Amino acid sequence: MSIEKGQNFLEEIVAEDVKNKKHGGRVLTRFPPEPNGYLHIGHAKSICLNFGLANQFGGKTNLRFDDTNPETEETEYVDSIKEDIRWLGFNWANEFYASDYFDQIYEFAVALIKKGLAYVDDSSAEEIASMKGTPTEPGKNSPYRERSIEENLDLFERMRKGEFKDGEKVLRAKVDMASPNMHLRDPLMYRIKHVPHHRTKDKWCIYPMYDFAHGQSDSIENITHSICTLEFEVHRPLYEWFIEKLGIFPSHQYEFARGNLTYTVMSKRKLLQLVKENHVSGWDDPRMPTICGFRRRGYTPESIRNFWEMIGIARRENIIDVGVLEYCVREDLNKRANRAMVVMDPLKLIITNFPEGKTEILPAENNPEAEDKGGYRELPFSRELWIEREDFMEHAEKGFHRLAPGLMVRLKHAFIVKCESFEKNSDGSIREIHCTYVPESRSGQDASGIKTKGVIHWVDAADCISVEVRNYDRLFKAEDPSNEDGDFKDYLNPHSLEIIKEAKAEPSLRNSKPGAQFQFMRKGYYCVDKESTEGKIIFNRTVTLKDSWSKEQQKGKLTESI
Ligand code: ATP
Ligand code: MG
Repeated sequence: MSIEKGQNFLEEIVAEDVKNKKHGGRVLTRFPPEPNGYLHIGHAKSICLNFGLANQFGGKTNLRFDDTNPETEETEYVDSIKEDIRWLGFNWANEFYASDYFDQIYEFAVALIKKGLAYVDDSSAEEIASMKGTPTEPGKNSPYRERSIEENLDLFERMRKGEFKDGEKVLRAKVDMASPNMHLRDPLMYRIKHVPHHRTKDKWCIYPMYDFAHGQSDSIENITHSICTLEFEVHRPLYEWFIEKLGIFPSHQYEFARGNLTYTVMSKRKLLQLVKENHVSGWDDPRMPTICGFRRRGYTPESIRNFWEMIGIARRENIIDVGVLEYCVREDLNKRANRAMVVMDPLKLIITNFPEGKTEILPAENNPEAEDKGGYRELPFSRELWIEREDFMEHAEKGFHRLAPGLMVRLKHAFIVKCESFEKNSDGSIREIHCTYVPESRSGQDASGIKTKGVIHWVDAADCISVEVRNYDRLFKAEDPSNEDGDFKDYLNPHSLEIIKEAKAEPSLRNSKPGAQFQFMRKGYYCVDKESTEGKIIFNRTVTLKDSWSKEQQKGKLTESI
């Protein structure tokens, strides 16, 4: 297969391997989350990449839980991870757990001991660290390095049987204490942890380290392309050393750059802190960069997949403007979200020449971007309406084309109105405005000949519903809160959530179900929150309508990341 324009370096590698019939032309990738938190948008990059590559080359992808660290792992996380991957639109070939391989991995360790390539070390963690050397100075051999194979086999078995306390002994690979790669200076393979595991319960009190579990699991599953993030590049020689010495299936590791976004943090440890310390309402708080947070906020799987597709895969770390993601979700929702009118800050508008007690029913297309316009809904229109307070000015400024005494505006899907007068409350605020309407200006049948510059949204005062609107903004006020002085939490945006308890919505929204998505005209994209009740629908703002992300920028960013 020739390299097509736009192929990323991993696609090129896989295409070449398939062409050369490496592993019989078979492609098997895996996505290996540690079940110690919820997946975030960065994980989605890895998911799209692993599943995407396999799909592209007729291969498969395993879901493997990298659950070798019993202290932080929980079944709740396993379930959420599966839900999120499915929601993103991917299906795994097999669901595996590194913990299912504990017996096999133990046998691999025994095999290395028998080859004289691993030893039990009684040194403490501090002693091991002090003998490690520095990147420019070689380390020192441990006094336990030359233990006999018999003694090592005996001690390792007794470690497994629970004869020693946590930290009393470790199993190390005998590689090279002088290697310029610190990861090769007799790395730890096993440590003692008298901690029950979420799956193996009390069966084990020794657990393999990441480096002695990951590649082994890849190999057991016959993974052809093991793709991970760049920080593992320095682990690759060790990954290869273990596989070679064990003589097991030669999975190969490839690295790509982590995906990071502006105005958020992406490490599970930090996200957990935000949850535990109640800075957010939970892992699925719509401000969280988690997949479930984005889902609750109204992001679609397509928008997230398109986003990572657009960013591409590179080997250089970068932080991506969250505006690109917002652009992707707008593009997607523009096609699929029905339009609706909701007034957030209501001001009463009375049409003095419209008969009292009369209601006209006006048709409104649901989505001008959809092929069939998404069908039509009905809007009641009567003498009293609600409009946005900001759509009226007592003294119109130059360029203000909405309502002010003497000015005309079109009410979307309805009629042209002219502001005649207004009334104030005793505190000087505007109580209501009085308009006349032009009966022959009805939308779609306009015979008035009047041209207005402004169009505003409105709802019928008698026939609207009260809804709660939650306007979400960025969770942090710094572009890269993890890279600022002090604690990342010092940079939380105090205005990341604005709640409007009583917005006025058109009645067609009355029976909206959680997850339903709308474009509130002139306001943004919104979706129904899961906390909605029969009596009160709650809408989350997915994203504003304004496109702060121009095509120009988009081009610049794209070339930068490739
Ligand atoms: P975190 O640092 O957020 O805790 P992690 O790397 O510890 O993430 P894992 O559950 O081990 O989380 O990650 C599963 C897979 O997702 C790994 O292959 C990891 O490299 C990849 N991954 C994690 N974060 C990102 C990211 N920001 N961009 C791309 N891939 C990522
Ligand atoms: Mg990890």
